[in-house]
Parts: sequence; C-alpha cells; structure tokens
Amino acid sequence: MIKYNLKCNNGHEFESWFLDSKEFDKLNKRQLLECIYCSSSKVKKSIMSPMVSVIRKEKNRKISFDKNLLMEKKKLIQLREHVEKNFTYVGDKFSKKIREIYYDKKTKKGIYGTTTPEERNELSEEGIELLSIPWVSKDN
Ligand SMILES: [Zn+2]
Repeated sequence: MIKYNLKCNNGHEFESWFLDSKEFDKLNKRQLLECIYCSSSKVKKSIMSPMVSVIRKEKNRKISFDKNLLMEKKKLIQLREHVEKNFTYVGDKFSKKIREIYYDKKTKKGIYGTTTPEERNELSEEGIELLSIPWVSKDN
C-alpha cells in the first residue's frame, strides 16, 4: 500500500491509499478518482512534502536550505537522508508533537511528519514556523 497526497483542479488537498503507483495511474486515467470535497475527477498527485520543524530561536534545529538544492534530485535525496538521520518521524502526529517541543522544550531533537493545511495555519498563528520540503523517492 502506498499513500499519496492528491490535489484536485480546485486546489483541494487530500490523502488516499493505493495498492501501488500503477493502480493510481490506472484509476486516474479512467477518471475514477474523485476529490473528496468537490467530486472533481481532475485529480493529480502532489509531491509528498513532510513538514520539518524549524524554530527560529534554536539554531541547532535549523536545516540550512539552499534554493539550488531544489533543482537537483541527488541533493534532494541527500536532504531526505539528512532529515531521516537527524529528525524523528512522527507521521500525522506532527502538529501535536511540535507543540510539545515548542512549549515544553523537553527534547532537542527535530521532528518531521505531515500536517493538514488547517493544522499548518493554526501552527503558524501560534508562531511555529514550518518548512515544507520536497520529498523525493529514492527508488526511481
Ligand atoms: Zn476538489
């Protein structure tokens, strides 16, 4: 099973599970995929982009980020490996965990995971800055 972030032509984002990438392509070709919000069948895969915690006050948790990095897949893979090595994956509990770090300051280790656009807005209103990074697959 593989989870994709999907986006419809009206800009709605949602997640869906597929057997594999071929199943996604097949269903999408036949326009059998629908947006869960507006039922549009013009749905495309959006890049998996986990959120990375970047808290301004604490330098050691920051990833230095060069725009040229976005251009080269090889470097993106290195970035991914850097994140996987130095950050703890928390999946969709990201917004809960980031608050624990932000308010309690119990752990120094950075985290990464996924948020919904709503959670992201809430966090940003609380002053928690997030960095979204392109997540490339290592396999192809
Ligand atoms: Zn939609």
